[in-house]
Amino acid sequence: MLYNEPMNYRRCGRSGVLLPEISLGLWHNFGGVDKREQNVAIIGRAMELGICHFDLADNYGPPPGSAEERFGDLLKHEFAGHRDEMFIATKAGHLMWPGPYGDWGSRKHLISGLDQSLRRMKLDYVDVFYHHRPDPDTPIEETVEALVQIVRSGKALYIGLSKYPPAAFNRACTLLAEAHVPCLLHQFRYNLLDRSCEAGMLPAARSQSTGSIVFSPLAQGMLTGKYLNSPTLPADSRAERSDSIFLDAAKVAADADKVARLQNIANEAGIPLTQLALRWLLQRQGVTSVLIGARTVAQLEDCAAAAGQPALSDELMELLNAE
Ligand code: NDP
Repeated sequence: MLYNEPMNYRRCGRSGVLLPEISLGLWHNFGGVDKREQNVAIIGRAMELGICHFDLADNYGPPPGSAEERFGDLLKHEFAGHRDEMFIATKAGHLMWPGPYGDWGSRKHLISGLDQSLRRMKLDYVDVFYHHRPDPDTPIEETVEALVQIVRSGKALYIGLSKYPPAAFNRACTLLAEAHVPCLLHQFRYNLLDRSCEAGMLPAARSQSTGSIVFSPLAQGMLTGKYLNSPTLPADSRAERSDSIFLDAAKVAADADKVARLQNIANEAGIPLTQLALRWLLQRQGVTSVLIGARTVAQLEDCAAAAGQPALSDELMELLNAE
């Protein structure tokens, strides 16, 4: 059954859109290499829990494109009739096909890219379409015009920007607002190991009154503590997988001391580290939704339990902030 457990929803900037405190991303675990029945179970459980926002991109997989294909397949079969209960995002702007038009932020790339995504997902429109990363060479005016054209054509209801540094973000927001297509959401990395957005992206999103949805809240799994005290990488963990480009044994080792300190704080507080990491984010001013990844239903449920919890004490927040 859908939406049969309580979930807190937060308003996205000054828009009419509410997003769940916990949203689900399909960057990993939903590719052509992953098990279809596991994906059915995760999406079904997410909908029961009220996690109705699904975040995709053209290049998610592996192979690239296969997460959208898988999601489209599930929408057509197991979740047919439930499109309007979901808020679906996709993105373009990273390398997708060979030649000069398969990447970045030209009108050519963005419009072709979204058309391909819609075909893969068998959808007429997405709820939010993001430019996945800023393009240093294409004039921002062209990128924004393409995004506006996409909304006017009905292929996306809202526009988002991802990983835009503050100056480019502010300029794009101004141009979008002038075209009466306000930016709905800014998407960027934020977790207890990487707080770089606090110096720019987070305050910029607040000052533009857009929503902020933050990715890799568990630092790809490191903030669950699963890599601590184990001489080898746990089987099936992301760091152990050969298709994981951004998390490996070296990255795990580099952050191990800080994760161990955070684990001690979690133990002292009597709160599992996963919960602490997610609740800390949900308590940071300006965060609309926390965008998790889940390989199993148990992981999804564990993360979902962080929503709707009482505020962490000032003392605990200070300890975490001081790390
Ligand atoms: P997380 O930091 O939540 O990492 C998810 C991984 O952590 C899982 O796949 C799993 O890895 C592990 N995990 C999650 N929950 C638990 C748990 N309860 N117990 C143990 N392990 C757990 O987020 P992601 O890095 O996956 O990013 C989330 C989403 O953000 C992406 O799917 C994507 O939609 C978006 N994103 C956007 C980017 C952008 O450029 N705009 C860039 C990156 C992400 P394991 O396999 O080890 O079990």
